[in-house]
Order: sequence, then C-alpha cells, then structure tokens
Amino acid sequence: MKTIAILGSTGSIGTQTLDVIRQHKEDFCVSALSAGGNVALLEKQIREFHPALVSVASEKKAKELRILTADLDIEILYGMEGLLAVATQEQSEILVTAVVGMMGIRPTMAAIKAGKDIALANKETLVTAGHLIMPMAEACGVKILPVDSEHSAIFQSWHGEKACGNRIDKILLTASGGPFRGKKRGDLETVILADALHHPNWSMGRKITVDSATMVNKGLEVMEAKWLFGVELDQIQVVVHPQSVIHSMVQYEDGAVIAQLGTPDMRLPIQYALYYPERRYLNEERLDFYKLASLTFEKPDAETFTGLHLALEAMRRGGNMPTVFNAANEKAVALFLDQKIRFLEIADLIAESMANVPFKEHPDLDDILNTEKAVYEYIDRGEKGIR
Ligand code: NDP
Repeated sequence: MKTIAILGSTGSIGTQTLDVIRQHKEDFCVSALSAGGNVALLEKQIREFHPALVSVASEKKAKELRILTADLDIEILYGMEGLLAVATQEQSEILVTAVVGMMGIRPTMAAIKAGKDIALANKETLVTAGHLIMPMAEACGVKILPVDSEHSAIFQSWHGEKACGNRIDKILLTASGGPFRGKKRGDLETVILADALHHPNWSMGRKITVDSATMVNKGLEVMEAKWLFGVELDQIQVVVHPQSVIHSMVQYEDGAVIAQLGTPDMRLPIQYALYYPERRYLNEERLDFYKLASLTFEKPDAETFTGLHLALEAMRRGGNMPTVFNAANEKAVALFLDQKIRFLEIADLIAESMANVPFKEHPDLDDILNTEKAVYEYIDRGEKGIR
C-alpha cells in the first residue's frame, strides 16, 4: 500500500487523484489533504478517505471545518503552516502537488527534504524554482513524477530508452491551441471570460483554462519540460494538435518519433505517477481508431499568442525572469477572472512586468518570493493608476 498526501484535494487534479485512489483502495491510502475554501467538499473527502491531517486556506475556514467534523479525530491546520504540515506528513510516501501557483514552492521543497516522492501537477513551482528543486530532489533521492499530461507522455515515451542511454534530438510538446485557435489579435479584443473558460477538449481549473486560452500554459510547460527532462530550450518544439489525442512525443537521434496517445482524461497521467513504474487497469474511455477521423498539426501562431513567445524569452534571459513571467501571469489571470482587465491585457501585463521588474541573476528561494511580491506591487501600482 502506498500512502498519499494531496495539496489541493478539492480542485480539478485533486478530485481526479481521489477518483484514481477510489478505484484502487486496495493499493492506496490517504494520509493528509489540503484545500482552499471548499470545506463542504473537504468534509466529504475526510469522511470517505480518513486522512489524519487536513489543512485549509484560512483560520476562518479551519473553524468552519472543525464544526463540520466535530465527531471526528482529525488534526486541522491552515495557511502556509498547514500546507507545509500536509506536505511533510510523517506517513505519506508520495505528495501530489495540485495547488495552483507559486504557493506550491515551499511545501514542495519541504516534502523533498522530508524524502517524499512528488507527483507534480503544480507546474508554476518548477517554472520559478526548477533550478533549486531538481538538484534538491536528486540530492535527496526523491522522484519527481510528472502529472501534466504532456510531461507524462514525454516521460512514458522516454524513460525506457533513457535507461538504455539513448539520446533524444527533441521533445515535441503538443498543444490543443485552446478555445481561440485560428483567431487573430483583432478577434481577441472583445472576447469575454466565458469564452476563455470554454476549453474545447479538457475540463480543468479556471486558472489553467485561461492559461490555455492565452497559450501561456504552453510556455509554462516548455519551462517545466526543460527542468524535468534536463534538455536545452531549443530541443523543445511546440506543435499545435487540436484533437489532443497525441499527448506529446520524443524524437530520437535516429529520427524515430515515439508518442503517447490517449483520451483527454487526466486520471491516466495521475494514475501512472502514483503507480510508477507499473501500469494498472483504469476505468476510462479507450481511443477508438476507427472513429478518429484525422490527427492534424500546426505551427503555433506567435503573433496572436504572444504569451508563448514571452515565456521563451523569460527562460532565455534566465535568473528571476521566469518568476517575473509567472507571477505577472498569475496576477493578470486573477484580474481577468475578476473581470477587471481584458483578455489581451494578460500578455501586456506580463511583457510590461518583464521590462520593469529588476533582474536578478541567481535567485535563491527568498529572491523568488521577493520577485513575486515586486511583480504584484508593480501591477497593483498600475491598477491604481500611479505607475
Ligand atoms: P483548481 O483551481 O481546480 O484547484 C486548486 C486547488 O488549490 C483547490 O483544491 C483549491 O481549494 C486549492 N487552493 C486554492 N487556493 C488555496 C489557498 N490559498 N491555500 C490552499 N489551497 C488553495 O486547479 P487545477 O487542479 O486545475 O490545477 C492545479 C495545478 O495543476 C495547477 O498548477 C495547474 O497548472 C496544474 N495542472 C492542472 C491540470 C488540470 O487538468 N486541471 C492539468 C495539468 C496541470 P478550494 O477549491 O477548496 O478553494
């Protein structure tokens, strides 16, 4: 039996992780869960999976949850202290990191130091602190197992070959193109939140759905792939593949391309990470090749979706620039979700932040968190009209 802790158990990845665990109760148990504010769902999860420890975002939410679970013997914490406790809970062997954004950095690092394997969904952590996390994981002998479907596909297509010492030419990172594929900048001036939240293939949390619409998500994934697989940026090629059947591919030195295909269901990569290196039955729809009319491929439209290009620029500049890129995106997406800015302003705010927030060559954890703060302050000043 493997013991699992989950950061973000009430979200899209978190609930699908619990669904995988529900299908394999003989193989997994849950030691700790964390949520933000959805205490009603967390209470249900507690009663079904019996974790010893849970955490929520605030003291107020912790009080609400204590009332709801007064008949149970369970430790309830909140805030960053709670996330750190869940990440390092004594019994757990694997931590699933399914919170959104840079709040995942400190708990992920704490879990690695405590010797937990990481099933990593929270890509923002690697984007901003990959240079600290990957060497730390190696030094502590813990595995970073990708949950993101593209990275899981690359991992599945590569790891057997890697073990034989076979080298790759490049990673072919597929992208659906999101809800606005084929549109031009002019078309995007008037799109509204509901349009951006309408992803053609995947059902995901709100932030990543907006990131898919701007193609910032693909930029974040390029950075994530660079850290996870230790390749150079120019070895990663983004290929738009609207059907989302091929989840990503690897091209070897001899020209052979190996891909992983499947239906758009996150439970497969989640389950693969939890069982790695074994495979088990998963009760999900299978691909029917007689029904797949066609698989098509396109170049990304860099002029319309500038978020992807800005991500590559941030990675090339290095230092704290990926953090500036990511923090500006987190803040801008939050403003867009609150309907305070327009869709195209997301990329504008990222570009402006990258041009104005001070560069730092070799950021440590404090520098990364200070950069996040500096970006937020920079954008807030503009919001108040004082920049
Ligand atoms: P969701 O928005 O669906 O879930 C986020 C989770 O974080 C929820 O459990 C939420 O709790 C919790 N949370 C929010 N705020 C806080 C807080 N202040 N403190 C503690 N917990 C908090 O996100 P997703 O599941 O979509 O995404 C999670 C991560 O996985 C992201 O990094 C995303 O990029 C990545 N990812 C997601 C994929 C997907 O298919 N969804 C695919 C690949 C990667 P609550 O709801 O209770 O407030």
